[in-house]
Amino acid sequence: MLFRHPLLALSVVVLFPRTALARDDGLVERPHTRVEFRGIEKSYAQAIARLVEAARETYVTDFAFDMPDRVSVFIECAPDQSNRLWTDGHDRVTLTLSSSQRLRKPADSGVFNIYGFCHELGHMAMYRTLKNRDWLAGDAAEGWAHFAGSIVVDRMYDSLGADFWPDPYDYRQDGLARLEKQLARKKPDAVTAAAGQWRELDKLVGRKKLVALFRAWNAADVQSTDPAPALRAALHKYAAPDAADAWFEDFAKGCVVRIESSRHRKRTLRAEKLSGQPITLKYDDGTSDGKKSIAGGGHAVFFDAPADGMYLTRVDVFASRYGTPQAPKESFTLTLCDADLKPIANWKKPYGTFERGEPSWVEFSVTPTALPRRFAVCFDFNPTATKGVFVHRDDSTKGHSATGLPGRKPAPLEEGDWMIRVQLDTPKSADALRGDGSR
Ligand SMILES: [Zn+2]
Repeated sequence: MLFRHPLLALSVVVLFPRTALARDDGLVERPHTRVEFRGIEKSYAQAIARLVEAARETYVTDFAFDMPDRVSVFIECAPDQSNRLWTDGHDRVTLTLSSSQRLRKPADSGVFNIYGFCHELGHMAMYRTLKNRDWLAGDAAEGWAHFAGSIVVDRMYDSLGADFWPDPYDYRQDGLARLEKQLARKKPDAVTAAAGQWRELDKLVGRKKLVALFRAWNAADVQSTDPAPALRAALHKYAAPDAADAWFEDFAKGCVVRIESSRHRKRTLRAEKLSGQPITLKYDDGTSDGKKSIAGGGHAVFFDAPADGMYLTRVDVFASRYGTPQAPKESFTLTLCDADLKPIANWKKPYGTFERGEPSWVEFSVTPTALPRRFAVCFDFNPTATKGVFVHRDDSTKGHSATGLPGRKPAPLEEGDWMIRVQLDTPKSADALRGDGSR
């Protein structure tokens, strides 16, 4: 799914504008599922609706996950479509395909559609609860959906029977049996290995407690440069410490991302120790030339402090929120980085600070933090198709901005610079102009 999901794309918004359905389109509704389809046979849309309805139910009853009251599925089949299946991690699943032949049984199509929907709902089950998961490796998130999806495939056989798919086949072979076979290989790939880790956690914690653990991980004070202690402490509430530590040690090897911190240590100063006469650094001329939301990335701008010993006090961004009218009750991350985009300090700020609609300058005060001469500030909004922030750019300058996340390699922004400004201040004692002879 989205957020850090490689398949997450914002195109879902574009693909399905809220217009009236055209002639060959269709809609299938069940109590907790809605399937809007174009270009496939209705029998498949009906089977998908039954499948999603039952899979959602299984994530609720077997796992106790918080699933949406209604899952919306969008299916678009046309020769110019690429073959993809993804979720927004909240309540939507989208399938695009170039030919309806791809809905045939895997032996003919090579596509595991039944498993695929169970897998996507697995992402949804996790992501609705575990929203703060920068520490979770991409392969680990995929491994979770693989593990949970495989279990749910087996349960589908119990509730929907052998023949519900229009092109019937014994789909139990796509469930846990397939996962066990993959795990038995000499060298399972990273996603399979992660699925094996989740299988062990399921045994350790108990299936219905996984959601409580995800909730605890979500609320934990996880430091991006050293996530293990907070994650491990949360796990101790749900498993015996020895067994928990043994599991976590294995899990952390491939599944927990630790971001290398900057060699510049975080140093802060109380605001009253500063001169109170900050300077602003900016590249933009105040006029927007475009905007962007970046899935799986962040908005970073590099600056050069005019002197040694300066402190960051405020970051401003010209932006607007999109998505639901009500801002998500989530935070985003603002990070101070060094010249290599390695994090020095980060702050969580509420999503609701941004207004929906017209962009405006939004100011974020931060605890005054010492700066290296060259530094960057980076906004990570962890956007999805249904929530995010458009950051505006200005093309009067370029070469100082990038897309990227702290600790990873940034990609230069070619079209201009992000409209992000910083305020810097100096300690009173370092202000030579004050003439107090202190330096
Ligand atoms: Zn996936």
